[in-house]
Amino acid sequence: MKAQRRDVVEFHRPFGYFELRRAAARLRRAYPNLAVFSIGSSVLGKPLYAFRLGTGTKRVFVNGAFHANEWITAPLVLRFVEEAARAAQRGESFRGRDAAELFRRVTLDAVPMVNPDGVELVVRGLGADHPLRRELLAWNGGSDDFSGWKANARGVDLNDQFPAHWDVERDRRAVDGPGPRDYTGEAPLTEPEAQAIARFTEAERFDLVVAMHTQGREIYWNYRDREPLEAERIARALGRASGYAPVKLTGSDAGYKDWFIDRFGRPGFTVEAGFGANPLPLAQLPGMYEETSALLMEALLASLRRN
Ligand SMILES: [Zn+2]
Repeated sequence: MKAQRRDVVEFHRPFGYFELRRAAARLRRAYPNLAVFSIGSSVLGKPLYAFRLGTGTKRVFVNGAFHANEWITAPLVLRFVEEAARAAQRGESFRGRDAAELFRRVTLDAVPMVNPDGVELVVRGLGADHPLRRELLAWNGGSDDFSGWKANARGVDLNDQFPAHWDVERDRRAVDGPGPRDYTGEAPLTEPEAQAIARFTEAERFDLVVAMHTQGREIYWNYRDREPLEAERIARALGRASGYAPVKLTGSDAGYKDWFIDRFGRPGFTVEAGFGANPLPLAQLPGMYEETSALLMEALLASLRRN
């Protein structure tokens, strides 16, 4: 018998930046077919880890934890990468497909934790020696409870930072300074995390992107009629795979998927995984993984059907 299969990405403890860094090192050792690299740095200088699997011409990009108190999406995304890399390396099937064959046709890029500084605030709290301690306390209304924090370390909501009717979103949010959520920043792409994601997306020209958020068990697939014709059909397929409901959304701008659709005219999706109050409890993680891994597999297959 081979050694017991043991997952690097664990589901039984909170997943912060330390856990991501450790998992990245272990995955790099275990899976030579998986490239581990950085696409930039956070406000506080943490590398933004990226993972790449496959050599295919079809390009899919999945990201997680844009929002700090949605950190549970990071282990969701990274476990998917791990299982896919393992299956491809061992010549096994992955969710009913020949993994090695699939990843000769598709290249999967993943940035599981877009907002590591924010995630650390939620998972570990505001340390006594935090370089922005005074500012963060003020922006959080004097409270040291950061469980509701969505923003980055400068109090900017990274999913309100993209140049797709950003000024409309700014006026809609009407938050005039740094805070736990919904502050768009002074201008689009002022924050290094949003810059890194935009630059990476421009450089790599993905066929399809999925941004993982929580919660609601919903899939947002459109943006101001800029989405391609196949977007709704793909959203329905993602919905069948996961049990999540495709939703046509209006009255939202400046998000990553909004910008991706607007800029490239290709299918981009925001997935609101799980159900309940953020941050979702760890106990939901295994069930959410069943749903989202099926969804992500369907997203890979959808990329193959694009011309
Ligand atoms: Zn979110």
